[in-house]
Amino acid sequence: MAFLQLKSVGQTYFSKHTATTALEDITLSVSEGEFVSFLGPSGCGKSTLLSIISGLLNPTAGTVTLRNQIIKEPHPKIGYMLQQDYLFPWKTIKDNIVLGLKLQHCLTEERLHYTFSLMKEIGLYDTLDKYPSELSGGMRQRVALVRTLATNPQILLLDEPFSALDFQTKLKLEDLVSSTLNEHGKTAILVTHDIGEAIAMSDRIILFSTKPGRIFRTFPVSGHLRKRLPFEARQHPEYAVMFQQIWEELEQIEQNDTE
Ligand code: ADP
Ligand code: MG
Repeated sequence: MAFLQLKSVGQTYFSKHTATTALEDITLSVSEGEFVSFLGPSGCGKSTLLSIISGLLNPTAGTVTLRNQIIKEPHPKIGYMLQQDYLFPWKTIKDNIVLGLKLQHCLTEERLHYTFSLMKEIGLYDTLDKYPSELSGGMRQRVALVRTLATNPQILLLDEPFSALDFQTKLKLEDLVSSTLNEHGKTAILVTHDIGEAIAMSDRIILFSTKPGRIFRTFPVSGHLRKRLPFEARQHPEYAVMFQQIWEELEQIEQNDTE
């Protein structure tokens, strides 16, 4: 049984006078514990596909199932993390990270303990009584990660979570997210337009073409890269080879796009 399965998913956005097909015929499956990246140029439908998987958006064609259960609405076992952290500025960090648990009516002693242990793991336990404005962008994204993990989701959807950060912070956060998700055996889908990030973090990369968004090619990442943390993987010779290969494919997509 596939963990997450997408069958012929398509999305057309309708307005009064136009119809835009953002995605067409997306079929793929993700195994439990796998880290998959959706890579592709801006506008190829990556965020649309993530919204569909999260249940926030119902596709105009096809189905999404998680453990054979059709996803039609936001599901408590699917965690969603975006480029912007969406922390509430008037709430303390502690109140922000337990928000999901409160909304799902599962704020137990045990969950609270787990959430605090995650804060320790990511090195931000001493910020619990602070407000988001007192933290840097990188710290806020780490808090957002804890908030997402607090409800113990079975799958994490990450939509360009590092793209608003400076390069150094982004590299550090890649390692932290990667090791945290590994440690907790989480399945994850990362949306990115950054080839390097996709290679350094994933088990498999799915490259999308545009207009409409379709799966163009799938790249399995070699074991040599997978067993390393993202920062180390970036130093490995195979990283450069894969980067070049994907770069060329992306060039081809962009060429087709302008023809
Ligand atoms: P990506 O995340 O890869 O940049 P998106 O999923 O945001 O791509 O967008 C894919 C396509 O769908 C684009 O052409 C975009 O303009 C269109 N689109 C996205 N959201 C909407 C919407 N709510 N209404 C109409 N068109 C949309
Ligand atoms: Mg997007």
